[in-house]
Amino acid sequence: MESELRKYCIAGNWKMNKTSIEASELAQEIKSSVGKDTDITVVLCPPFTALDSVARVIEKSNLELGAQNMHPASEGAFTGEISAEMLRGLFCNYVILGHSERRTLFNETNDYINEKVHAALANNLKPIVCVGESLKEREEGKTLSIVKEQIEEALKGVSIDRDSSLIIAYEPVWAIGSGKTATPEMAQEVHGELRKILITLLGKTIATKLRILYGGSMNPDNASDLLEQIDIDGGLIGGASLDAKSFIQLIEIARSKQKKK
Ligand code: PEP
Repeated sequence: MESELRKYCIAGNWKMNKTSIEASELAQEIKSSVGKDTDITVVLCPPFTALDSVARVIEKSNLELGAQNMHPASEGAFTGEISAEMLRGLFCNYVILGHSERRTLFNETNDYINEKVHAALANNLKPIVCVGESLKEREEGKTLSIVKEQIEEALKGVSIDRDSSLIIAYEPVWAIGSGKTATPEMAQEVHGELRKILITLLGKTIATKLRILYGGSMNPDNASDLLEQIDIDGGLIGGASLDAKSFIQLIEIARSKQKKK
């Protein structure tokens, strides 16, 4: 729907990989190749321990910095946690929230993710809110109802006045890190549905401009067909973002599609 209004976004989720030095080396390779790109948005999400080193590398480039998680409170007795304000202090502009690994391994609920979304927005951090069904839920025909519930709960009470301040990522859990990708048609069905839900929640003007990324074993071989889909506005990339060559190729694929829009 009205895809010409949306700039592709390619975001790399490095998960719990790369030391501070390794992360700055990877960021440097990406910067050397695509750091001046303004056609699409590129976000690097290293682990917390590498945010500072990556921030220094990508300073004065067009690459953006994101975190992989945060705590909803602004400060206090939350040992081991990081606040939105702390991330802003490290020049982060984005934060991944509600990733399926956080939901399943760390028991994060939709309510808790909603608290984080509010805290991120209050601190001018752009949430990349992840939703997606498990294999069991897909096999039971529950995909659309699950993602509807996840997005409605995550965005409860949220109002957005700038289309760039929120990104949604559809990540079928069964496709993450598994080498199995949703077919472009399967992904588009969910993205189209998410767009309709976003229109109801946030209004048409904003919702038609919000980026909805696909995530789940996206790589340079399957990206082109996925990015062709009208409501797929980029990718949240795990495994393939750890390799500079693959990640740069993904950025170049997205850029070539952007130019055709
Ligand atoms: C992810 O974890 O966000 C992800 C999409 O991982 P992968 O690309 O490895 O499936």
